[in-house]
Amino acid sequence: MSDRRIAAVQTVLQQNEIGALLASVGSDLPYLTGYRAMPLERITALVVPGVGDADLFVPELEAPRVATAVEVRPWGETTDPFDLIASALPKSGIVAVGDQMWSSFLIALQERLPGIRFVDAESIMAPLRMIKDEDEIAALRDAGHAVDGVADELATLRFSGRTEREMSRIVSDLVLASGHESVSFAIVAAGSNGASPHHEASDRVIRPGDAVVVDFGGRMRGYGSDTTRMYCVEETPEGFDDAYAVLEHAQSVSVESVRPGTTAQAIDTAARSIIADGGYGEFFIHRTGHGIGLDAHEQPYIVQGNTQEIRVGMAFSIEPGIYVPDRWGMRIEDVVVVTGDGVERLNRSSRALRLVE
Ligand code: ZN
Ligand code: ZN
Ligand code: ZN
Repeated sequence: MSDRRIAAVQTVLQQNEIGALLASVGSDLPYLTGYRAMPLERITALVVPGVGDADLFVPELEAPRVATAVEVRPWGETTDPFDLIASALPKSGIVAVGDQMWSSFLIALQERLPGIRFVDAESIMAPLRMIKDEDEIAALRDAGHAVDGVADELATLRFSGRTEREMSRIVSDLVLASGHESVSFAIVAAGSNGASPHHEASDRVIRPGDAVVVDFGGRMRGYGSDTTRMYCVEETPEGFDDAYAVLEHAQSVSVESVRPGTTAQAIDTAARSIIADGGYGEFFIHRTGHGIGLDAHEQPYIVQGNTQEIRVGMAFSIEPGIYVPDRWGMRIEDVVVVTGDGVERLNRSSRALRLVE
């Protein structure tokens, strides 16, 4: 796996006359080596030269955790890792660096390599990482099915009388119990808090008549899940049902619009035009979706202005929402993967509004 991916990087490096690619913390590293580095002040860095073998520089104390096909070069506590890494890089020309490398690492390397122009590696890595292979899709699918079970289970629980924070903890526990190795987020936003798309769960007590946005996901075999479902306590608030019907329609038309050859912005338009026609256009305040994989948010972004062609193997969320300030918010979110003849939904729990106690 890593051999094929590193070879693909080297082809792009050669085509663009870039001397090497450097990946540190962030997801390019596990994509290329199978190893995810802890985000520590001790640098871990993969050097992929345009030609020849890649080297993975790791702090000596981390070396026992590293299982990879790439050559591992541990550095000891008293060595200067930047001298070492600089010695493996070209002395002039261009080097691409991962977009999540710490600035302190980059500045240390810039001081040692004044003849190098550093560029962002995203334009090299994103086109590769956007197209998921079978193993990646299988991991995304398993993660999606696991959170669907959580969404169903939530519909059987009592929300009323609990705080958002308590519900968020319950959601997190269920995500872990479903087989995820970690929880990435568990947004629980009740009543008017739902009008803030990334609301942080608070001590607000959930009450009858509240609409509750529940948006959660984690990582399974390294890959993300992300789904949003709506729960209303005993009854729906005023004006909610009409908007929800519009949102459900917008979400499903947007999903159905996904096929190879369309564009990212056309998928956004599919959702946005229905919400606008329904009279809620001003309340749909974010993009329709984001790519998902080793990162919870990655390319392709499903947003106006993104003319990225949609291709087989891309995976992203479709998550239109309607947010009415001081009243309520709503969002429906599924992850989809692009197939030869259209789309596969990786989330299949009911999108209908659920009434809970
Ligand atoms: Zn979001
Ligand atoms: Zn989400
Ligand atoms: Zn999302």
